Amino acid sequence: MKVADNPAPRPARRDVTVASVMAPTPRLRRIVLEGPDLADIRSDRFDDHVKLLVPGTDVRRSYTIRHVDAQARQLTLDCVLHGHGPAAQWAASVRTGDRVTVFGPKPRHEPVAFAETRILFGDTTALPAMARCLETADRHSGRVHVYVALDDAGERQRDLKPLRPGDTLAWLDPDGMDDLGWVRLRHAARRHDWSAADITAWIATETSVARRLRAELIEEEALSRTQIKAAGYWRVGEADGGMRL
Ligand SMILES: Cc1cc2nc3c(=O)[nH]c(=O)nc-3n(C[C@H](O)[C@H](O)[C@H](O)COP(=O)(O)OP(=O)(O)OC[C@H]3O[C@@H](n4cnc5c(N)ncnc54)[C@H](O)[C@@H]3O)c2cc1C
Repeated sequence: MKVADNPAPRPARRDVTVASVMAPTPRLRRIVLEGPDLADIRSDRFDDHVKLLVPGTDVRRSYTIRHVDAQARQLTLDCVLHGHGPAAQWAASVRTGDRVTVFGPKPRHEPVAFAETRILFGDTTALPAMARCLETADRHSGRVHVYVALDDAGERQRDLKPLRPGDTLAWLDPDGMDDLGWVRLRHAARRHDWSAADITAWIATETSVARRLRAELIEEEALSRTQIKAAGYWRVGEADGGMRL
């Protein structure tokens, strides 16, 4: 059997302690993890994630790195309390001092900076990545436009604002239809001005919605597949239903 010369390094295992738990909005827990295992953590990309090993189980779930500070040995996750799965239940009951294990993030060698206009579409599970993209605007010269479909208007994060003139953030409140944000995100995409010369789209939401939105951008806005990075972050009725599309 041929062995690869440079096998991909495994995501690091990090055993950490819960330093604090906050509730920025009713259905969100902001969990700060800390410990010596975070001394070498590095995350450059706004959508980097770790795998959280739910304590007492062998269940692993993906969570975006909302903030990282290797010097302070801290890592922040924003976990949606959607009410069903083991990870959401852990987040709902976690307390300062609890122990937990995370793996990652995967080392990535793609450039962090970007110059093109980026249009980000997502739901509350994508908000940590989208917020990070807005907040790290000093790392890239490209414009950022964010559309977030909320499942509850109370989930608006009032302190989250674009830092740079020209970047935008649009909260799409629920309108009574149980469509997982599909109709609102599609309307936002149709209203958006796609005429910028260099433009890409990033999509992260429920898997069927992400798939439909990607198809919409290809068919209606004439984007090519290479202009779109799309992922399902969860899937209705399925445990661990996230997938790269
Ligand atoms: C790369 C990546 C990054 C992610 N980042 C984040 C993040 O920063 N914050 C975050 O909260 N989530 C994030 N997610 C989504 C999160 O991993 C999933 O929601 C995951 O399914 C939660 O695990 P669980 O154990 O709570 O539920 P599971 O056991 O996976 O699912 C149990 C049930 O809950 C339902 N369910 C799962 N998620 C949701 C939801 N959001 N809303 C309604 N129903 C749901 C499923 O359909 C299933 O029926 C990310 C996913 C990916 C792939």
